[in-house]
Amino acid sequence: MNFIRKIAICSLTASLSAIAAATPLPEHQTSNAWYTDAQSKLLEKLQTNNRFKAKNVIVFIGDGMGISTLTSARILQGQLNDQLGEEGYLSFEEFPHTALVKTYNVDAQTPDSAGTMTAMMSGLKTDVGVIGVDEDIVRGDCSTVAGNEVITALELAEIKGLATGIISTARITHATPAATYAKSADRNWEDISDMPEAAVFFGCTDIADQLVNFENYLEARYAGVDVDGIDVAFGGGRRHFLPKDEAFNSPDASSAVEGDRTDGRDLTAEWKAKYPQGSYVFDQTGFDAIDAATTKQAFGLFNESHMQYEADRLNDIAGEPSLTQMTEKAIDILDNQEKGFFLMVESGRIDHGHHAGSAYNALTDAIELSNAVKKAYDMTNREDTLILVTADHGHVFTIAGYPKRGNPILGKVVGVNSDTPAQDAEGQPYTTLGYTNGRGMMDLGSETNADASYAMEINAGRKDISAINTESPGFHQEALVPLTSETHSGEDVALHASGPGAQLVQGVIEQSALFHVINQALDLINQ
Ligand SMILES: [Zn+2]
Repeated sequence: MNFIRKIAICSLTASLSAIAAATPLPEHQTSNAWYTDAQSKLLEKLQTNNRFKAKNVIVFIGDGMGISTLTSARILQGQLNDQLGEEGYLSFEEFPHTALVKTYNVDAQTPDSAGTMTAMMSGLKTDVGVIGVDEDIVRGDCSTVAGNEVITALELAEIKGLATGIISTARITHATPAATYAKSADRNWEDISDMPEAAVFFGCTDIADQLVNFENYLEARYAGVDVDGIDVAFGGGRRHFLPKDEAFNSPDASSAVEGDRTDGRDLTAEWKAKYPQGSYVFDQTGFDAIDAATTKQAFGLFNESHMQYEADRLNDIAGEPSLTQMTEKAIDILDNQEKGFFLMVESGRIDHGHHAGSAYNALTDAIELSNAVKKAYDMTNREDTLILVTADHGHVFTIAGYPKRGNPILGKVVGVNSDTPAQDAEGQPYTTLGYTNGRGMMDLGSETNADASYAMEINAGRKDISAINTESPGFHQEALVPLTSETHSGEDVALHASGPGAQLVQGVIEQSALFHVINQALDLINQ
């Protein structure tokens, strides 16, 4: 019989086979693709052995990548490949271990990226808006920083002698990447011109300075520690590293004066002086020229502010690498270190797409994150590399109505057994995707930069979209409550895990648990 042969081929677990052998199931059931797919996924989990120690850890953060974003990105990914969409998976959704993560900050029901990333990197929750400090901090008050700093997984990895790297499509001084290396009473202190005079007077330093001089700051904080600095940093935010002086503009500058710094310091020059063998790059050509086999340190600042949305990347002045390319290059450099590496990769602009009310930009950036995770998974060994993929928080983004199977996810709701858009109580069509709040409906045609909506009037509430192509890149979904920027949501996010220690990712957990999963895998505290 067919099903017996199938079990003999499988025979992965005695228990399941025994049950099946004792109670024969109908062949049409055991050969059904839904049945076999679900069974093989379960068997993969049963096969997970007791490996808990990892050589390398890679943490991927989809900023603002809540569960509704995962579901709709997965459907869009499938539909872009001529499938119905619902049946597919983002790359990391096929990882064997998953947990739900509670995201609130100590003082906030709905969190921000600074408090959440500090929780993930340092193992404790803290207040909204602060970086690398505990809840005893007073946001914006420099004098409360001293004594409240916490150490991060990246710093512990650095002290342990692992290679370390950070990547973000946002400014590399933005909250999520900053929480891996900086201590700041305010996430907005990205360079000295962003800081109040009192903060500078009391000796607080800006986030860009803390990145470039990471080595000195870490060694000063822990006597006897000798580290070699963050090996790879790729992202945007060049303006925070350059003096406010046209003479320092790079060829990739989009503003008349690219730099913001009012202290005259050129931190890119400081970095080059510190790491004379390293590669500082600002465009695709420079990035492509980095030889990963011989490079130990690489620093790439590919945009004045945030990097482009993935869908808008070709519009960058001098060209910039994709998240997947940056991830690949970083791993190629970091894996030269025999002791192992710690890498944090943030897709920062999923969040920005949602804030601007553009599902198109948010979802296409989420798909690119999935591509980057797949690249990392394919390049590393699942027996020695723990990969964690999560979000810091969600957005007020919903998948609504009763669209039929395979209905375009960016389209209007068309119900089961129908070919025409469903109507609301007033006879108007409506989209599957929408926002509870934000700037509201916009029809910007082929525009691939969601931020163009900030130049438009807020247009919240129900609108007549019957003549609008809602699947075009420039369509911004309707929003109920008018706000200058769509907001985060307070619901749980998902955490997906593969590799040694991934077994610990299960149940409903506090966001601070992520640090402890990393610590357990790399044994960070025992140097
Ligand atoms: Zn946000």
